[in-house]
Amino acid sequence: MSRQYDERHRSVMIHEALHYLLGGRLTGTYIDCTAGEGGHIRAMLEATEGQAKIIGLDVDSEVLNIAEQNLKDYRESVELFNLSYVDFEIALRQAGVEKVDGFLLDVGVSTFQLKAKGRGFSYELDEPLDMRMNLSQKRTAADVVNSYREDELSRIIFEFGDEKRFARKIARSIVSRRPLFTTKDLHDAIKAAIPPAERYKRRRHFATKTFQAVRIEVNQELENIESTLRKIPGFLNQGGRIVIISFHSLEDGIAKRVFREKSESELKILTKKPVQPSKEEVELNLRARSARLRAAERI
Ligand code: SAM
Repeated sequence: MSRQYDERHRSVMIHEALHYLLGGRLTGTYIDCTAGEGGHIRAMLEATEGQAKIIGLDVDSEVLNIAEQNLKDYRESVELFNLSYVDFEIALRQAGVEKVDGFLLDVGVSTFQLKAKGRGFSYELDEPLDMRMNLSQKRTAADVVNSYREDELSRIIFEFGDEKRFARKIARSIVSRRPLFTTKDLHDAIKAAIPPAERYKRRRHFATKTFQAVRIEVNQELENIESTLRKIPGFLNQGGRIVIISFHSLEDGIAKRVFREKSESELKILTKKPVQPSKEEVELNLRARSARLRAAERI
């Protein structure tokens, strides 16, 4: 079933991602671990004039259907798999490839997921609390908000949502309103916990941070990033590269730490500090403003 949505995802930091991923090469095999709507894959194909082979993964079957449509003119160069990047070896095996020349991860949520009806990622829509990227996974946002202890919820909102002052109050408000069924229920629980003056003062909608925190927990995003980054060097040819674009300081911190730990033996770090999007890009695409890119090369 294809869901309705009307806004395309704008790929972030395309120029910088290609610069670090390809390092000037026009050939090779690359994995886009987060194919999304296929924007970065298309850019890679254009930059390499169709000479590179690309394996694209996305855990969200609905998003992958869109990538398939968007990339239908490039069938000879691209193989897409509905898999979590945690399982990228399965895709490599099926594609008959042992090692590749680059891995790209552009982690987080896509515009499709935020805008499509029925996925439960957005506080702007009133729908069941879902937020699963993998539609065959059991745990949903409803399970998290209805079954976690108050102190666990508070920690998740504090850490993953960076909601420093109101995490406890929001957790208490959620627990007092159980069971929560819809995104509107969660929105209202957050609203009740944050005073009006604070809500109006914020640059972003007051529910953004808590929704982000619940989404990260539902999809185990931080654990997945860490375990995948740790495995990647073993599947890179010498000179092959990893590029990760993240939108959260905890994700960027994981990349920084794993790259550092591996820089003794397996990796050369290419970005001493995280690379940020240009002012021009942020002006065109506000979502890019919190993007940070890190890259490393297999020694
Ligand atoms: N680079 C893409 C583009 O240019 O269109 C956009 C990627 S979007 C920011 C992030 C994507 O990662 C989403 O489509 C999401 O479903 C996917 N994703 C999240 N967790 C994943 C996982 N564990 N394995 C594979 N894909 C995942």
